[in-house]
Amino acid sequence: MSGKQPKIAVIGAGLGGAAAGALLQRAGFDVQVYEQAPAFTRLGAGIHMGPNILKIFEKMGIAKQLEGMSSKPTHWYSRDGLTGDYLSKIPLMGYGATYCTVHRGDLHALQISAVDAQSLYFGKRLKALDDNGSDVHLTFEDGTSATADIVIGADGINSRVREVLLGAEKPNYSGWVGHRALISGEKLKKYDLQFEDCVKWWGPDRHMMVYYTKADRSEYYYVTGVPHPAWEFDGAFVDSSREEMAETFAGYHPAIQALIDCTDTVTKWPLFNRNPLPLWSNGRLVLLGDACHPMKPHMAQGAAMAIEDAAILTRCLQETGTKDYQTAFALYEASRRDRATRVQEVSNANRFLLEQEDPSWVYGYDVYAEPLKAELAA
Ligand SMILES: Cc1cc2nc3c(=O)[nH]c(=O)nc-3n(C[C@H](O)[C@H](O)[C@H](O)COP(=O)(O)OP(=O)(O)OC[C@H]3O[C@@H](n4cnc5c(N)ncnc54)[C@H](O)[C@@H]3O)c2cc1C
Repeated sequence: MSGKQPKIAVIGAGLGGAAAGALLQRAGFDVQVYEQAPAFTRLGAGIHMGPNILKIFEKMGIAKQLEGMSSKPTHWYSRDGLTGDYLSKIPLMGYGATYCTVHRGDLHALQISAVDAQSLYFGKRLKALDDNGSDVHLTFEDGTSATADIVIGADGINSRVREVLLGAEKPNYSGWVGHRALISGEKLKKYDLQFEDCVKWWGPDRHMMVYYTKADRSEYYYVTGVPHPAWEFDGAFVDSSREEMAETFAGYHPAIQALIDCTDTVTKWPLFNRNPLPLWSNGRLVLLGDACHPMKPHMAQGAAMAIEDAAILTRCLQETGTKDYQTAFALYEASRRDRATRVQEVSNANRFLLEQEDPSWVYGYDVYAEPLKAELAA
């Protein structure tokens, strides 16, 4: 590692950490990003990026590229998983920027490309942090170390930084899993069925969210939410199978059966969350994204909240400068806590857009138009 002393260390180069690194660097801060993975890993899944995030990507200089590569649904449809009846048709236009659905690996690569490559370190798993009052000493599993004035924990639901702030505590298993599969768009052409650009199929106790991940509709993606009493496996996910999917969605609409028939590989992920944390920062350490407010993914806004956090935290540090990080962190928490907590609650409840409703409060939000709040609401 270079002998130059970094001012801001971001731990984790996921979707939130990459956004924090890129936005802070664009604002002129001296930032180093430390990621535990040995190299960039391309997770095979899809992701929604709503207009609230495209506004931030414009600042990061990647909005046009994202729009070029992604599918841009005009509506979100909700359909009854058994009968196929339409339950809602929500416009995804008119919120000040584009709504995109995309391959998550493509999105992540794009975000990483916005971070200065010289300041991004892979294979750096944070082991320990020592905030001695005047700076923070970071130690990594590979035996190396670094120093920073401020440390941003963007290290996900099992955050080491959160652990240093609040003690070791496992996240809560929600009792739900999500199956994820990417399907060839070509294969779907043989069916005389409607495959909407963005549709959520709702059953009595389970659902399947489906959308294209590429501009040319060559790749369709589904992610489920299915009750599963206990997660009995090690690791972030396990393999599932077409047979397991067929059993899980037996009796569901022919379009769902077609998706299952076209499935080559499918994985199964446990869905974890945490209750709102009692604090978001302490001393020179501050949290963002899943490290701070993880949620069940049913609103497709978890990464979005991490990226919004990164944008607001950058604004707060611009407002105060790094020296007055305590004021910056207080402004950040006051400006973010209500919205992140509301999204956490709505996402966990899993009724978002089931019926006709106005999602302007989510998609119309512009982090750059919001006044920074000086104090937490009572
Ligand atoms: C099935 C599913 C579907 C989803 N769909 C959507 C969607 O459509 N839209 C949306 O907005 N969100 C979605 N989400 C939520 C989204 O994936 C998360 O909210 C988002 O990834 C959080 O970003 P993050 O940067 O905070 O954490 P992460 O993406 O988890 O990144 C954390 C990073 O930190 C690194 N790290 C961890 N520990 C250390 C350490 N000790 N030292 C160094 N590095 C470390 C990790 O390797 C990782 O790269 C979905 C989630 C799931 C499970």
